[in-house]
Amino acid sequence: MTHISNKAIITMEKAPVIIVGAGLAGSLMAIYLAQKGLTVELYESRPDMRKTDISAGRSINLALSDRGILPLQEVGIAEKVLAEGVKMPGRMLHAKDGALQFAPYGKDESQYINSISRGGLNQLLMTEAEAYDNVSIFFNQRCIAVDLEQTTITVEDYNTKEQKTVKGCTIIGGDGANSAVRNAMEQQIDGYEASVDWLEHGYKELTIPPMQGNGFALEKNALHIWPRGSYMLIALPNADGSFTCTLFFPNKGTVSFESLDTPEKVQAFFEEEFKDAIPHLVNLQEEFTNNPVGKLGTLKCYPWIQNDKAVLIGDAAHAIVPFYGQGMNASFEDCRFLNQCIEKHGVGNWAAAYKEYETLRKNNGDAIGDLAVENFYEMRDHVADPTFRKKRTLEHKLENTYDDYHSKYSLVTFQPQIPYAVARELGNRQDALLMDLCKDIDDVQTLNLNEVYQQLKMLKG
Ligand SMILES: Cc1cc2nc3c(=O)[nH]c(=O)nc-3n(C[C@H](O)[C@H](O)[C@H](O)COP(=O)(O)OP(=O)(O)OC[C@H]3O[C@@H](n4cnc5c(N)ncnc54)[C@H](O)[C@@H]3O)c2cc1C
Repeated sequence: MTHISNKAIITMEKAPVIIVGAGLAGSLMAIYLAQKGLTVELYESRPDMRKTDISAGRSINLALSDRGILPLQEVGIAEKVLAEGVKMPGRMLHAKDGALQFAPYGKDESQYINSISRGGLNQLLMTEAEAYDNVSIFFNQRCIAVDLEQTTITVEDYNTKEQKTVKGCTIIGGDGANSAVRNAMEQQIDGYEASVDWLEHGYKELTIPPMQGNGFALEKNALHIWPRGSYMLIALPNADGSFTCTLFFPNKGTVSFESLDTPEKVQAFFEEEFKDAIPHLVNLQEEFTNNPVGKLGTLKCYPWIQNDKAVLIGDAAHAIVPFYGQGMNASFEDCRFLNQCIEKHGVGNWAAAYKEYETLRKNNGDAIGDLAVENFYEMRDHVADPTFRKKRTLEHKLENTYDDYHSKYSLVTFQPQIPYAVARELGNRQDALLMDLCKDIDDVQTLNLNEVYQQLKMLKG
């Protein structure tokens, strides 16, 4: 059955803003719009995760940092979100022999990222959105078609298979990496550009359960990394004492998901490479066999908008690999900028707001996509590299001595006032200089810190 909702037919002005996808970005955007008094309808393909025990999706927990926190503060829910998080002020590096080294992310413990439950955060955002009378979320409604010209979407009910077409005053695509709204743009806009660069690595999630009495088996306040050249294992803490581990690993080749094809090979591999993790990975065999291998890719597309009809936010516009822990943060930042543009141009002036949003965000979406791929190689290859470690020591000294020096990681993670594109450009120039200075010295104490600082200042131009 196909119908256009009565509400939409009665008066166009009263037509709701339609958001496709009640994920992280879609739900946050709904809160921003609800606070402006707009009527918002969200169509979500999955069931209500507050009522059904479904896995929230790709990863159990996420690193939330300043760029993501700022929008949550703007809508007034940051405290609630952070109360559920675990602070991670640095990386804990696990060498093959079990030796541990803690590397702070920022200048001191006051700078940290937060490990947050993806499901918990999504549920909270949906509940906060639904607390507004003008927001409705429709679950089990997969968007199967979008007519950009008519500003309608067609959704199919998961259970009844009933289809209906609803009309909005505009459509926001918050429907993730496989966005139906973006697919419609691709089909309906001449010369549309969309590409995905797949990494040759995939990922698999594993779990370290809590110790007795909800204790943490590893240092609680750190993002743990086992860097091993062409692959790595990481672990993020959860509030209940468990850790969610992710193995980033080649899909094919001599040492790969494909080659670890028996329990014996998996066991032998983990004992050789991640010896100190093995006693805690109590369900290794079961999880390695049953948990899927996720794909990792960088999506770039253009345009992100169709005049006043539709706009993309979050992964729908720029799905990225997870190595900077910024996909959600960037998605939340999209919502903040889109909200600002709507405020600037006035509610209803969608075309002007969308155009400015796209101008402000597209190059930054590309930049964080590139940064994330670059950080994959850095985490995998360099974190255990002596020159890289000296560079981190030097950066740390600089950050503690000069208030206006920020490492690339800090620029991306702790400086939301600096756009991603600027952070990438400046950060990469800083990295090149510091790596060069560190490559031929044994001890960073031998460098004149002020001279290094002056050279870095010149890079700012
Ligand atoms: C392994 C991994 C680890 C990550 N770690 C981090 C991290 O530490 N920090 C960080 O900031 N980011 C991280 N990310 C990235 C982060 O998960 C995404 O950037 C974020 O989820 C994007 O939010 P979104 O709302 O745009 O998309 P999603 O979270 O994917 O939400 C999209 C929503 O749309 C719904 N939907 C999809 N299609 C349709 C349709 N046709 N009709 C209706 N509804 C639809 C989906 O069900 C979903 O609810 C990680 C990603 C991965 C894969």
